[in-house]
Amino acid sequence: MATFEELKTNAIKVFGNFGAWVFDEWKKLNDTFFYGENIVGEIIWGSTPQDRSLGYYSPDKNFIVLHKTLMRPVYPTSDLTWKLRHLNKRKVSDVLLHEMIHQRVHQIGGWEGENCHNNGQFVNEVNRIAKLLDIDIKAKVIQWKTIHGKTTPSVEPGCLNPEELSNFPYSSRSRNYYYEQS
Ligand SMILES: [Zn+2]
Repeated sequence: MATFEELKTNAIKVFGNFGAWVFDEWKKLNDTFFYGENIVGEIIWGSTPQDRSLGYYSPDKNFIVLHKTLMRPVYPTSDLTWKLRHLNKRKVSDVLLHEMIHQRVHQIGGWEGENCHNNGQFVNEVNRIAKLLDIDIKAKVIQWKTIHGKTTPSVEPGCLNPEELSNFPYSSRSRNYYYEQS
């Protein structure tokens, strides 16, 4: 199995500064939110299945994909070359954090439930991390109910709906969070 340094070196070869940054960020998030326990794998900038999401985690191969559109500038820039300093680091960091929750859930035994978001293991991680981020939300496994032939999610008051759960933490950030660059 490749070490962190080997994977990072490889990422730098392919993605330059972006590769270096993303591995350093992964390590920071691992120490801050996952007790340094996540086992590192490849992290690439590319396409996600059907381009449906900003990130993707493959449990079989333990690799994380960050959608290549995340590399694009938020605002038009006259720079001819797109540089790391233009990257919306808060946004990418949140996408990475989301994929790292999948990574952790998989590495501590996997999940059982409706899908990779709506299950007890993922929900527990969301609640744990929301506290650490000081985000005031609550997640619960969502049941579905059918009334007059229509199936709708039964979301308890004050809890994340399916959409928000699938997009934690970016669904739960304050409006301006991604535009106040730190
Ligand atoms: Zn996900």
